[in-house]
Amino acid sequence: MATTLTRREVIKAAGLGALALTLGNSALAADLEGPATRPQRRYELPPLPYPYDALAPVIEENLLRIHHDKHHAAYVKGLNSTLEKLAEARSKGDMGQIRALSRDLAFNGSGHVLHSLYWLSMKPGKSSEPGGGLRDAIERDFGSFSAFKAQFLAASKNVEASGWGLLVHEPMAGRLLILQAEKHEDLAIWGSTPLLVCDVWEHAYYLQYKNMRDDYVDSFFTVIDWPAVESRFAEAVRAG
Ligand code: MN
Repeated sequence: MATTLTRREVIKAAGLGALALTLGNSALAADLEGPATRPQRRYELPPLPYPYDALAPVIEENLLRIHHDKHHAAYVKGLNSTLEKLAEARSKGDMGQIRALSRDLAFNGSGHVLHSLYWLSMKPGKSSEPGGGLRDAIERDFGSFSAFKAQFLAASKNVEASGWGLLVHEPMAGRLLILQAEKHEDLAIWGSTPLLVCDVWEHAYYLQYKNMRDDYVDSFFTVIDWPAVESRFAEAVRAG
């Protein structure tokens, strides 16, 4: 069942389209099925785009199951409950908790966006290397694919505490950047579109890799879904 889901369906199920529109992220918004699609007002956990055991041995079934069904699900639940608390605050005219609620909104919303993209950043089987326009842009903006790889791996391995390594398209200069994110939302650049994300929270690897984050990041790199990254890049450039 899971294998028949298209990327578009997964994005739609995640409620990511509506959030992407809010963020001006048309590369993700383009995954909505069309103008007739009613934006979702609640966020939903997207199903994995492959079976739970499909990424083994890089990501073992139990690790992937807990990560998706428990951790990602918790961000979706937290996002919806924060929106309910904000609605309640508005109806009561009580903004006493606005700082905490705003923080919860960004944390859970960014957690949902990044996890939804994380599942789409990997695919079963050994990955190749990027091609097409993405390859050209990587060589233009980082010097070479191997230079890009060295920076992406270093950024991901060296996030302080919990966070992410990200390849993003930044539209003002029309170039690629590698970012770190702390937690889910800190150190981002407004308006940039995440194309490829590596989760380096301990919950993403500890069950299998223990404290060896570097080994996990190196393994993650072998299952990157480059055709999917290329397609997100092309959309981001078009939206540019
Ligand atoms: Mn995670």
